[in-house]
Amino acid sequence: MLERIRIVLIGTSHPGNIGGVARAMHNMGLADLALVAPRCEVVTADCVSRASGADALVHSARRTDSLDDAVSDCTLVVGASARSRTLPWPMVTPRALGERLPRELADPESRVALVFGREDSGLSNDELHRCHAHVHIPTNPDFCSLNLAAAVQVLAYECRLAWLATQEATDSSVYHQKAHSDDLAPATHNEIEGYFVHLERVLTRIGFHDPAVPRQLMARLRRFTLRARPERLELNILRGILTATERQATANDQHVPSKATRLPDETH
Ligand code: SAH
Repeated sequence: MLERIRIVLIGTSHPGNIGGVARAMHNMGLADLALVAPRCEVVTADCVSRASGADALVHSARRTDSLDDAVSDCTLVVGASARSRTLPWPMVTPRALGERLPRELADPESRVALVFGREDSGLSNDELHRCHAHVHIPTNPDFCSLNLAAAVQVLAYECRLAWLATQEATDSSVYHQKAHSDDLAPATHNEIEGYFVHLERVLTRIGFHDPAVPRQLMARLRRFTLRARPERLELNILRGILTATERQATANDQHVPSKATRLPDETH
């Protein structure tokens, strides 16, 4: 279970923090680290020193330019946030997140990403809107921002507690069975993002959405869809509906006679 939990750091600016994260992960038995567009040289003396022997994780970390690339194969993406944002999103506590992991990772194909933001500005709204849920570590409300590596430590500890509980369960086999057929498997981040691109295109095409005046339409539809945790088959049905809608819109464009050419009995 632990090897299918990915820690994703976005735009980190201090190499020491990356080393500290590697140490926290290795202490708790996590090994999958992804660095999205770091804003510093990664492997420095400070990084290696803070890693205290766990720098192999930094060397083997996957490097990507975007959050999408870092989590494309993940079936659950959770963003760690120090503050609440304008559009409330499903929230989990660190403990509830840990308790959810054995179920989330029951299928050996599933993967969970825990996403952490920049030291100075955290995660952007766009990044937070790509997550199924947000996790907030309860802190002193007047001083709520933890050091990046400390935040990773807290969540990695909850992952470990949850994993230990599965080891102690009398029938641990329940956590290892392949629970889903392919259709029933939860859709991956990549599949869901493909759906959102398609959805926005169709909503724009039929005049329901104006990208120039987006309000929060796409963010609200994202929150709704991500909350539902669609299975692959369900997502395919939704995409089928979008494709049929596009086809119909094209047919209407081509076949609806303009007012001037309508026959009299068609006008009422
Ligand atoms: N100054 C930033 C916080 C940056 S701390 C802000 O105001 O948003 C760097 C990262 O550590 C955050 O993006 C978040 O992923 C994580 N983090 C820090 N404190 C946290 C908390 N209390 N709960 C959850 N994540 C936290």
